[in-house]
Amino acid sequence: MKPFKVRLRFHGDLGVFLGSKADDAVIERRLAEKTSIKDIIESCGVPHPEVDLILVDEQTVGFEHTLANDAKVEVFPVENHGTYRTEKQLQTIGISRFVADGHLGGLTRHLRLLGFDVAYRQNADDRQLLEVMVRENRALLTRDRRLLMHAIVQHGYWPRSQNADEQTIEVIRRFDLSELIAPFTRCLRCNAPLEAVAKADIIDKLEPLTKIYYDQFRRCPECKQIYWSGSHFPKLQRRVEEIRSRARRKA
Ligand SMILES: [Zn+2]
Repeated sequence: MKPFKVRLRFHGDLGVFLGSKADDAVIERRLAEKTSIKDIIESCGVPHPEVDLILVDEQTVGFEHTLANDAKVEVFPVENHGTYRTEKQLQTIGISRFVADGHLGGLTRHLRLLGFDVAYRQNADDRQLLEVMVRENRALLTRDRRLLMHAIVQHGYWPRSQNADEQTIEVIRRFDLSELIAPFTRCLRCNAPLEAVAKADIIDKLEPLTKIYYDQFRRCPECKQIYWSGSHFPKLQRRVEEIRSRARRKA
């Protein structure tokens, strides 16, 4: 087969995946056999769940599209949702159930604080993460881009920042979650939805001052942790409001 040349231009923030090898977010690939566009894009370091739209010689294509001749390829991230709306949008937004890798404990707590369902085990290995993702129909959150490239992954995201606050805002924007925020409804420790509980039922478990000052309590049905709007609550509320307002504003 005649060798051919593919020129790819990566838009938006997809440049973060290219490293120093890319000039102006453009990469050229010389190929000698028919190759799927998905494989060509991932060979540049960009995981497929980060790609929302692909144009090959100005035609929108899906991941299964193969190339066998010279081509110009434009690759767009999810942030362009709406700007280039076509039938060929590759990602789904509005997913609100996640599984996070073991390095994302801070992000997991923040998302749970906002009410989102995040499966997390600090020691989960790759196979376990993918199993939970498939079985429970969750989007994968991971800083391991090789894992995100796994063929079985349909929905997922690679947090750009290493900071949990920033990662939280990124995830809310990426999956368009700001209208779904329901703070203080989920257990931060084990992810179960909290239930209202009568003070009388738990009064023997409360510290003396908590007994005096607070009347409204919620309890985790799984781990039995009790939650109330204690002295730390205004600080948490401020954090929630800040995340909410920053997530609404587009970067
Ligand atoms: Zn719990």
